[in-house]
Amino acid sequence: MPVEPVSAAAAPVFKLFIGGEWVASRSGRTFESLNPADRRDVVGHFQAGTAGDTAMAIGAAQAAFPAWRNTPAPRRGEILYAFGALMGQHKERLAQAMTREMGKVIAEARGDVQEGIDIAYLMAGEGRRMFGDTTPSELPDKWAMSIRQPLGVAGIITPWNFPMAIPCWKMMPALVTGNTVVFKPASDTPHCATLLVELMQQAGFPAGTVNLVTGSGAEVGDTIVDSPDVPVISFTGSSVTGKGIAAKGGQRLKRLSLELGGKNAVAVMRDADLDLAVDGILWSAFGTTGQRCTACSRVVVDRPVADALVAKLKARAEKMRLGYGLDATTDVGPLINGAAVAKVAEYVEIGKGEARLVCGGSIAADGDLANGSFFEPTIFSNVAPMARIAQEEIFGPVLSVIPVDGYDEVVKAVNGTRYGLSSSIFTENVNTAFRAMRDFETGIVYVNAGTIGAETHLPFGGWKETGNGHREAGHVAIDTFTEWKAVYIDFSGRLQRAQIDNQPG
Ligand code: NDP
Repeated sequence: MPVEPVSAAAAPVFKLFIGGEWVASRSGRTFESLNPADRRDVVGHFQAGTAGDTAMAIGAAQAAFPAWRNTPAPRRGEILYAFGALMGQHKERLAQAMTREMGKVIAEARGDVQEGIDIAYLMAGEGRRMFGDTTPSELPDKWAMSIRQPLGVAGIITPWNFPMAIPCWKMMPALVTGNTVVFKPASDTPHCATLLVELMQQAGFPAGTVNLVTGSGAEVGDTIVDSPDVPVISFTGSSVTGKGIAAKGGQRLKRLSLELGGKNAVAVMRDADLDLAVDGILWSAFGTTGQRCTACSRVVVDRPVADALVAKLKARAEKMRLGYGLDATTDVGPLINGAAVAKVAEYVEIGKGEARLVCGGSIAADGDLANGSFFEPTIFSNVAPMARIAQEEIFGPVLSVIPVDGYDEVVKAVNGTRYGLSSSIFTENVNTAFRAMRDFETGIVYVNAGTIGAETHLPFGGWKETGNGHREAGHVAIDTFTEWKAVYIDFSGRLQRAQIDNQPG
């Protein structure tokens, strides 16, 4: 390993951020965050926040809300710009900390930080847009318009796989529109969250506008979801947890933006550039060790090119180097933790009974990998579209190749899952490309590229069980965090009655 492990005794202690102060949890308890590439390396001790700590954070956010909502939106945007600039200045430090805590290789960690910067700048600009409509009134001497207003305290509950980008994707639109925030990060990546919030404090977000509570989903997350004082929740994570939040938050009629699982497919047609397809598939399947909601976990291939494609994928996948993400020679980093390794290993066993194992298939624990959570890049071929490994989210470096006959069967297989986040098609035929853009039932479609690589100024989100219809990123991201208000101003000096005074009879 390129870095000496830090022992538990030597690792620093981090705090909660509530009402502009760094404070210890009332629980008096902490939990450790470990480096998944080397579990002897302790990143830090983090506060095990309680329901009481969470209530305090919600209270601080509520107290900060009136002044923040009345701060001119362009001024709020300036603070977002300052935060984006600070992230830029600290990009390398943030990226290295992310690789250490979460495992993704350093180039991808830099990309994760960059997504945070991009969304900060995009949303800062919303401070000078946040457009509503003006429209003619049906009555004379009357003005009609619609404006956006914030909801109040936004609950931000995030996963570990994009530990800086996803919190920024959620907090930037929440804050620029005038909401205040209680942020509960994944327990696997509390350090990344702490580093972000330190920079938010430095950027000038007023005390109480941003509050950080580390601790378990069952206690901190659940308290946020159940609180009558948090009208909007933005969540990314597993479908199981998302459905629980939908049920509980739904009881309180909350605004819920849920970004859940994926089972994303790359389609490869018989006229595709196969080498380009292989590049796109490997990057999408094994980038972030397959732990992206947009990761490619299925390849739906037109049968005449199936064998050639599998041979090329195998040759390249077998050469991928596993290792610590800070090591420049590493292609694939570790999984997030031991439970993830066990889950992947279980699915590989299921796969062996369903399809043909082409390469990989084992936990990797030789030499430097012995203390980490590593699994070999794994490919199955001859997978049936409805096989479990082709249907269930594995969230690891496991790829299923599904051979089918012709375009109609490709569409059927691509769409034949309960998820609908990202899809892609490799074809040299422009007509086929346009048909796929029309026919694939996913929130994101790529042509001649893999399933990953969303840009922050386009809407991000999925169809079907991937979510509940909301979108992150793009200008539509502010829909989650704003209420519409229709405003009518009558300057006629008399009572005018809509639908009555200007209609016959
Ligand atoms: P979870 O959905 O359990 O966790 C996501 C976030 O929700 C974390 O901050 C977690 O906190 C929190 N949480 C957990 N339980 C509750 C609750 N009852 N109420 C409120 N918040 C809660 O995902 P995992 O990290 O456990 O990952 C498991 C699987 O989920 C993965 O293998 C993958 O399949 C999927 N996943 C999908 C992601 C995506 O991008 N779509 C991202 C991450 C995971 P805590 O960390 O403290 O448990």
